[in-house]
Amino acid sequence: MTPDISSFLKKKIESFSVEPVVYAYGTVSRVSDGVVRVTGLPGRSYGELLQFESGAFGMAIDLEEDGAGVVLLNTADVVSVGSRVQGTGRVCDVPVGESLIGHVIDPIGRPLDGKPIDAKTYYTVERPAPDLVSRQGVHAPMETGIISIDTLVPIGRGQRELIIGDRQTGKTTIALDTILNQKGQNMICIYCAIGQKASTIASVLQNLQEGGAMEYSVVVAATASDSPALQYLAPYAACAVGEYFMEQGKDVLVVYDDLSKHAVAYRAMSLLLRRSPGREAYPGDIFYLHSRLLERAACLSDAKGGGTLTALPIIETKGGNISAYIPTNVISITDGQIYLESELFHNGIRPAVNTGLSVSRVGRAAQSKAMRKVSASLRIELAQYREMAVFSRFGSDLDASTKKLLDSGERLTALLTQPKGLHYTLSEKTALLLLFKHGGFDDVPPSRMQSAASEKLAQLREKCPDALDTIDRTGDFDDAIEQALLKGAGISG
Ligand code: ATP
Ligand code: MG
Repeated sequence: MTPDISSFLKKKIESFSVEPVVYAYGTVSRVSDGVVRVTGLPGRSYGELLQFESGAFGMAIDLEEDGAGVVLLNTADVVSVGSRVQGTGRVCDVPVGESLIGHVIDPIGRPLDGKPIDAKTYYTVERPAPDLVSRQGVHAPMETGIISIDTLVPIGRGQRELIIGDRQTGKTTIALDTILNQKGQNMICIYCAIGQKASTIASVLQNLQEGGAMEYSVVVAATASDSPALQYLAPYAACAVGEYFMEQGKDVLVVYDDLSKHAVAYRAMSLLLRRSPGREAYPGDIFYLHSRLLERAACLSDAKGGGTLTALPIIETKGGNISAYIPTNVISITDGQIYLESELFHNGIRPAVNTGLSVSRVGRAAQSKAMRKVSASLRIELAQYREMAVFSRFGSDLDASTKKLLDSGERLTALLTQPKGLHYTLSEKTALLLLFKHGGFDDVPPSRMQSAASEKLAQLREKCPDALDTIDRTGDFDDAIEQALLKGAGISG
């Protein structure tokens, strides 16, 4: 028995091969404010996670022959000069999949709500945008439920529409109302908070929970107190989470709130990495920072499953200056913008959409027939009213036709004003605008417009529910429906 065992062991030992395992180590040569310079450690890839001797993690974003510039993911981590650092071979990634729905995560996928995530698939945060042949034209509408946006700057599924305006002009509210309006529309929503106060994010979350939106939403958050690296990663991570669903053929909406703070985080990181500052001290590749993110929004071709990813980036302007560096960059990358104005907001016109400067370059093609029909001349009417309103300030003697135009414009503006949390369905929006066009609100003073609108809708719901239902189901609109609605409202067509 014994010789057998010893010969067996001998054989095993003889055939045992000892392969050298190579660990590449680098050394920390400088530490400053969450940015670390490492010497040695060749062959790293962009965005690779590196682990320091203290257990801290960093991301390599400046690659050189004999070293790397690394940003720490957690600024509170302690890294000392001379300590060792090792590559992990892993590029920053996030968990993706159905199990994420209802969760709040940070940009590297750690749950922030205390609930563990059971994810099997991981996507790297930086991924190439779908190529040309994998795409098709934007053709389906993404209803926000906000009448002024759906009529004047309609958004299509797969589009990129910028929400831009000064601070406190209702930017976040528009994005949240849009998410809340997606209930029952078979849409997955992702809200990405970048550089906001934790208390603001908490109130957004509460808003979504109360509206029942967390059943189809994911929140990706990097707060103002998180490291610039995490803030930088947040939108890419949110996009990767959305891409998973898009590739499954679903419709996805991603809100980036907001990209101005994202650019500022990237600037902080770049300056600490001693990259040369350019205009407004932003590094030279700041345009690419946002273009490679927003290019990932797409309407995939039917061969690729037909999924869509709609992006609603938000930009905060200073003093209404939309021609500053970052705003012009993002305006030129996106397919249109919703420009919110402080003055309108403070005059009670909310959402404070400036109709002259807001545009949607592809959305009209995706608008439903009903919306297209009733909103055709609206923009011109509003523009005429605004122009006339400015002129009429100088003279009190107005002829009858000018007065009529001003009255009608004022009522239209009141109709397009909508309190937050109120969402109109397609049929409701169509009916309101149709009635407006046919004089259904002619004797209503602007201050009573909101209540008059809801009374009319209640009346229509009672008198012609079928016509409303057909519009909601098919998006269609013909003479028969028009007559039914007008009759229901007591207007002879
Ligand atoms: P910030 O620059 O701080 O991010 P913001 O532009 O995102 O601000 P919001 O936070 O959306 O603005 O809105 C500012 C305030 O205006 C909030 O208190 C919100 O409740 C209110 N508000 C926004 N839109 C409307 C609306 N349509 N009706 C009534 N109140 C509104
Ligand atoms: Mg906001």
